[in-house]
Amino acid sequence: METTRKLKDQIAIVTGASSGIGAGVAKALAAEGAKVVINYSSSPDKAEKVLEEIKATGGNGLTIKADVSNEKEVVEMFQQTISHFGTVDILVNNAGLQKDAKFHEMTLEQWNYVLGINLTGQFLCSREAIKEFLRRGVVPQRSKAAGKIVCMSSVHEVIPWAGHANYSASKGGVMMLMKTIAQEYAPMKIRVNSIGPGAIRTPINHAAWQTPDAYNQLLKLIPAKRIGEADDIGGAAVWLASDDSDYVNGITLFVDGGMLLYPGFEDNG
Ligand code: NAD
Repeated sequence: METTRKLKDQIAIVTGASSGIGAGVAKALAAEGAKVVINYSSSPDKAEKVLEEIKATGGNGLTIKADVSNEKEVVEMFQQTISHFGTVDILVNNAGLQKDAKFHEMTLEQWNYVLGINLTGQFLCSREAIKEFLRRGVVPQRSKAAGKIVCMSSVHEVIPWAGHANYSASKGGVMMLMKTIAQEYAPMKIRVNSIGPGAIRTPINHAAWQTPDAYNQLLKLIPAKRIGEADDIGGAAVWLASDDSDYVNGITLFVDGGMLLYPGFEDNG
């Protein structure tokens, strides 16, 4: 029986897709028929492995090296994608990292580094994506929208995080960047939403789940009593990128096992 693939023939760029959530999202979009650009900054082997997995299941894609905080490299990544696949329909702004420090010890370099990738990177990629969405407009055979952007935010766009001021500030910034461009381009049928992951098992936070002690501490923050997996985010990204969410614009979809439910009150506080 022919299955309906929700993203058939659409072109997606996923930044930071050589590991963790980005790799999971790239595979989930490809499984729904999208051709996926697997962006990476430093690990060509890992990016190629993700592409091989996609091809092994009948999918299609391309790996492109670009540092999302570098304007020239981002512009070139979009040019390369458009010359290879013809256009871009979906951008997943996933690349991000942490450089943790107590606030009074945080260097300007640590601050600028995190903001440069986590926030300016999303600005640069979104700007190039929106230029292409506006140029092309809606192609009804592919999607009701002229383009879709999914920003990888975090529960830390709303939960303050001591020792991570640069990271939380970057995600708070992503929230307002996402809402503002959603408002600005909704009339042109461009949709911009975020995913706010809770704790997902990836290299970024291995210290929080690699030992039983750390894992049990982490579970105190998660009413669902399990850590999230990249697949949990993949499903949310497919929904936000597909016409199933065509009337959804400017929201953060939290995928966090209930982390935002004030779990400290579970036993009456
Ligand atoms: P990860 O470290 O596996 O993935 C981050 C990816 O970004 C890596 O592939 C890395 O190479 C890439 N990257 C870093 N700097 C880059 C740059 N300058 N240009 C291009 N790519 C770059 O970690 P992850 O958990 O998969 O993180 C993905 C996103 O999810 C991040 O934005 C992170 O803030 C967010 N997030 C993760 C969690 C979690 O619990 N894992 C929770 C909330 C939000």
